[in-house]
Amino acid sequence: MAGGVGFVSILTLARADRNRYLSAPHRGIAFDHAQLTPSATNTKRNRRSPRERTRLVAARVDENLEHDLQQCDVKLTGVVANTLRRDMLRGTIPALVFVGPWWFAMRNFPEEQAPAAAARRLSSQSRRVRAVACTRCALHAGFLQRKHRSSRLIFGVRTGNIRATRRTLRSAAQRERELKAQLKAQLKAAIQPGWSAAESAELYGIKSWGAGYFDLSDDGTVAVSVPFNGARARVSLLDIIAGMQQRGLQMPVLLRIENILDAQISLLNESFGRAMRSLSYGGTYRGVFPIKVNQQCQVIEEIARFGARYGHGLEAGSKAELLIALASMEPDSGYIVCNGYKDTEFITLGLQALKLGYRVFFVLETPTELPIVLETSRTLGIRPMLGVRVKLASRVSGAWNESSGDRSIFGLTTSQIVELIDSLKQHDMLDCLQLMHYHLGSQIPNIRDIRSGVLEAARYYVDLKQEGAALDYLDLGGGLAVDYDGSQTSYDYSKNYSLDEYCLDVVEAIMSVLDPQGIQHPVIITESGRATVAYSSVLLFNILDVTRFEPGQVPAPSPKGEHELIGNLRDSLKSLGPRNLQEGYNDAVYYRGEIRDLFKRGQIRLRELSLAENIFLEIVSAIVRRLQDVKRTPPGLDGLEQSLSDIYYGNFSVFQSLPDVWAIDQIFPIMPVHRHTEAPSRQAIIADITCDSDGKIDQFIGSRGIRKTLPVHPLIDGEPYYLGVFLVGAYQETLGDLHNLMGDTNVVSVRINEDSTFDFVREMSGDSIADVLSYVEYQPQQLLEQFRKTAEQAVRDGRVSVAERQAVLEAFAASLRGYTYYED
Ligand code: PLP
Repeated sequence: MAGGVGFVSILTLARADRNRYLSAPHRGIAFDHAQLTPSATNTKRNRRSPRERTRLVAARVDENLEHDLQQCDVKLTGVVANTLRRDMLRGTIPALVFVGPWWFAMRNFPEEQAPAAAARRLSSQSRRVRAVACTRCALHAGFLQRKHRSSRLIFGVRTGNIRATRRTLRSAAQRERELKAQLKAQLKAAIQPGWSAAESAELYGIKSWGAGYFDLSDDGTVAVSVPFNGARARVSLLDIIAGMQQRGLQMPVLLRIENILDAQISLLNESFGRAMRSLSYGGTYRGVFPIKVNQQCQVIEEIARFGARYGHGLEAGSKAELLIALASMEPDSGYIVCNGYKDTEFITLGLQALKLGYRVFFVLETPTELPIVLETSRTLGIRPMLGVRVKLASRVSGAWNESSGDRSIFGLTTSQIVELIDSLKQHDMLDCLQLMHYHLGSQIPNIRDIRSGVLEAARYYVDLKQEGAALDYLDLGGGLAVDYDGSQTSYDYSKNYSLDEYCLDVVEAIMSVLDPQGIQHPVIITESGRATVAYSSVLLFNILDVTRFEPGQVPAPSPKGEHELIGNLRDSLKSLGPRNLQEGYNDAVYYRGEIRDLFKRGQIRLRELSLAENIFLEIVSAIVRRLQDVKRTPPGLDGLEQSLSDIYYGNFSVFQSLPDVWAIDQIFPIMPVHRHTEAPSRQAIIADITCDSDGKIDQFIGSRGIRKTLPVHPLIDGEPYYLGVFLVGAYQETLGDLHNLMGDTNVVSVRINEDSTFDFVREMSGDSIADVLSYVEYQPQQLLEQFRKTAEQAVRDGRVSVAERQAVLEAFAASLRGYTYYED
């Protein structure tokens, strides 16, 4: 069964095979017969004999395609190789000799006659006649399956004049070429029998951004893996989801993995420990977790519990956060660093905590804080542990670079620092100034910026020491970045350094400035928030629905005629070729615009507009298909593929669960949680269920940078499809808002055990509708009462029965208790 371009093969998909493929849409095969071989579906034979109603797909194929098809169990039950050429040769001489019978045959098959019937009649003529007919009319008509039901099929019959036949053959050939490309692309993209979890891992870059915590298992599900005494324990996310369902927890769910939190705290402390040992650093490392990065009780409690072994403390930026810190930590378990504006109440509480044994630093952010501190400490008779935030000149790159440079909001300028020293000296309190702090911004992607910040800070440290301050602590603030896209570059959502490099650079830079001055090495504090918690949370949600942008059926022009502009669109489609893609697109956009204007003015009907939109989509689809063979995409056609991508509707709110996606276009890794042994054959953007056009995600991590669509699997009827948004543990939860009154999601904390089992350590139900209504000052009970009155009035008016009133009131009450997200 030779292939090669120029051969014509006819595949009959036996009904069983066809059904298998049609009922396996996840394979992404669209054997839309009407689309592929319009003439064949409509043959009388096909309509008449359901037993033999096989789908016929005619296409020029090559060996690769045939191989692909065979790989997919598609039976090639009929092949006519080289039919056209062979029949041409065979047919020419008999055509001359047997022109009589041919003429007779033609006259006996009127135009309207069904091709199959015509072919049957023709088959009763001599073979030669049939050969001629085949040659002349091949693709103009339907197919004839021969009586003995061999696999061989021949082309059916009926023709007009020779010129018409030539035209038909030409357009059939063009159509055939398109079909071939289409079929091949579909098969390549969709079936890929060799598709494996490893290919999916590559596609979604999970190994790059997963930091060893996330990976794909051979069964095609995303797995979480955590370290245990040199080995790793591994759990499938799908198993965790099954556990949630058994416990009645609906999607969306925010999943927290406690072990990851612990592992990150260990990594940070141990990396600094290693760096200090390797460079013979004289001081120690003490981390503090900034509560603002994730204030959730479960998170802070775990950090305080696990961090105690490293003396890992907390950073508080407000009175409320100071309360959390004091309640969560034991007095001697770590430091509490108080940043932000502080009033007398804040300072009073902090000073009293000092008496209980807590080590609480007040970092002076502005000159106005000092008089309040001095006054309160005098009143209470407690000497404070003071810090000063310096405003460094060093600027950093990245999305949060506003915290650095001269115009940064917080921190004292050089002259304010000098005034502070003089003032403390005056009050005989310079020995209270023990800590120097700076913060250049969150998510600093470039190690050079980090290093130059440390060098500058160390210079301040030396001079403050020399001014007589009793400094012992150098607090570098936050900024340790997370590699969200896994590219290991200085791109905003990545980082071009490892944790070990970060620690070594910090320690080495401090030593390089302090050692020549003979200054004792300080305790290094960092306020790493993002890097501590980002990995520990995953947002899981299900896909509810999909919108596809595919052309519907485009009927042939009506015999009564159609609007000229629609005809123009049809012409644009017909004349589309590799050299005029841009022109064809421009024409199509123009004609569609004109047609839309006509519709607005009431000059054409909805059906005509719909037809025009369909032809337009057909043109765009054809262009996108052809672009795959073009070396360079014309600039005007960039992003065209995206315009045809699906919209997958996810059961979540961007505003509530991923506020930074909406606010600052942050990129998070997103991928399906399962089905990774199937090729993700669709391209989609993700929309949430708020009715806001901003509620979408249309930037994703690709293997070669940011991509506009996410590869996903086609939905399977009745089967859930889950996506996960990873690395969402930092900043997202509290920044989220109640847009469209979508409340907090359900939250589940799991702990993975050494034997790769897991426990649900905590579950928290998300907001009910009554909860969110009360946040915006409604009283749910009062709402129910108001509604009850309306329903009662309807009973009085005879519009509903008492039973109906009861049913509607129960529905109202049940909704108040319900989850704010889509419930099954
Ligand atoms: N410290 C201060 C003063 C901050 O403002 C921030 C946040 O921007 C952090 C620490 C935490 O930064 P990151 O999450 O980048 O570690």
